[in-house]
Amino acid sequence: MTTTTEPGPGQTRGLVCAHHHLYSALARGMPPPPNVPHTFIEVLENIWWRLDRALDLDMLEWSAKLAALEALEAGCTAIIDHHESPNAIEGSLTVIAAACAEVGVRVSTCYGITDRHGAEGAARGLAENDRYLSEGGRGLVGVHAAFTCTDDSLAAAAELASKHRVGVHIHVAEGPDDIGAADRLRDLATDDWLLIHGVHLPDDHGLQGTIVHNPRSNMNNSVGYAAPTRFANPVALGTDGIGADMLAEFRLAYVRHREHDLDATPDAAWSWLETGWDVFPEARNDRVTWSYEPIEPWHLAFTPTIRAVDVEADGRLLLQNGTPTRVDADEIRAKAREQATRLHTTLESLV
Ligand SMILES: [Zn+2]
Repeated sequence: MTTTTEPGPGQTRGLVCAHHHLYSALARGMPPPPNVPHTFIEVLENIWWRLDRALDLDMLEWSAKLAALEALEAGCTAIIDHHESPNAIEGSLTVIAAACAEVGVRVSTCYGITDRHGAEGAARGLAENDRYLSEGGRGLVGVHAAFTCTDDSLAAAAELASKHRVGVHIHVAEGPDDIGAADRLRDLATDDWLLIHGVHLPDDHGLQGTIVHNPRSNMNNSVGYAAPTRFANPVALGTDGIGADMLAEFRLAYVRHREHDLDATPDAAWSWLETGWDVFPEARNDRVTWSYEPIEPWHLAFTPTIRAVDVEADGRLLLQNGTPTRVDADEIRAKAREQATRLHTTLESLV
């Protein structure tokens, strides 16, 4: 059922996180990496690529449940997830989808294929995307990034996406190591692709698709400012795995834009949040009642304490007075802590 009515006073539609990594919710508090990273590629090698190798399906289940719970509590009802767990590939997308369904949050997921673990690893990733989509899962076809894939793998991902009539979800030019991405992807990308980051893309890169801007992650990784207003593409907002508090990401997107350009207004960052409803249209049916009104970009940009009070998805109440109705938040947090301890112990033993 499509709700055509506008949200009421103090309400928005369900917010959309257009790029998330649900597997990273247990990373907080993880042991420090064995080598201190000094470049973006060293951040990937020493932190995120160690984390994804340590994951098993039990850790993933509770990571996804915790992340979905935190999304719901922040008024985010739709998550576009990008997943990698090279030692637990088969079935991983179903685990993520089931975890989100339990909490009640919508998810579109994908497995980010890569040749980092050889051609066989890429093939297993592709097969997981194919299996999940063939079984009717809501998702896209994932690619980690052009710089970790062969041209054959990129072409295979584009072909699989076309077979399932979905787009490809891929990191593009996040850091200088992926500077050649546009030339390698230009003949493959279509307007249903999600191009994540684009920090190092030229203004006239010629790629079709929606660019997803992740300002907090870009600042944290010191990769530079994407300056997304320079692109002709639609722009949406994501968190790149650092929670799903989209009002917080909107505020940061605005203030980072303003730092770059004193003429910037919150309307630009708000329009990026609104693009989320183009890439995940079902969230238009959802309603979030906030602890504040008016819901207006200038107010929201300067009111950092707004909370989601009630959340409805398709008319079903998922959050009531800030408390989830379908799951026990304390239980999810306790189980997630147990799995985080397992994950952090595994990480300490990885070289
Ligand atoms: Zn990402």
